[in-house]
Amino acid sequence: MSAETEDRVVPGRCYCGGVTFEVTLPSRFCAHCHCGNCRRAHGAAFVTYAGFPERQFALTGGGDLLVRYRTDTGATRSFCRRCGTTLLYEGPRWAGEVHVARACIDGEIDRAPEAHVEVDNKATWWTFDDHLPRLGGTSGSEKKP
Ligand SMILES: [Zn+2]
Ligand SMILES: [Zn+2]
Repeated sequence: MSAETEDRVVPGRCYCGGVTFEVTLPSRFCAHCHCGNCRRAHGAAFVTYAGFPERQFALTGGGDLLVRYRTDTGATRSFCRRCGTTLLYEGPRWAGEVHVARACIDGEIDRAPEAHVEVDNKATWWTFDDHLPRLGGTSGSEKKP
């Protein structure tokens, strides 16, 4: 990682632009989540997240529009109440971390997606089309044969 990317600030927003935020690099990971909850919450085959320590995430606008939905798994999924964009995931397994929908971060971050996780729960109607590691099992992030 070059010095100039280490604390670079990258903006992001929801579809309507009401909710805006900034993430500060470096990220902790970037991965595609295939769990059923992400699939349904985002209305997509899978969700690509970039993970950041919470101090490296800042809401810069639209705090009144951001709905923080507490799920039955004890996680919080946050979305824009005006346009419905699903933006953030914060889960008890990753205390102190914010998982940001990669699609809502504008521009480049410090890494490309590195793995598929929760692959045992992937949509039956979607087929892998890359050679990234596929992780699954009980934790959702164990190496698969
Ligand atoms: Zn919005
Ligand atoms: Zn998921």
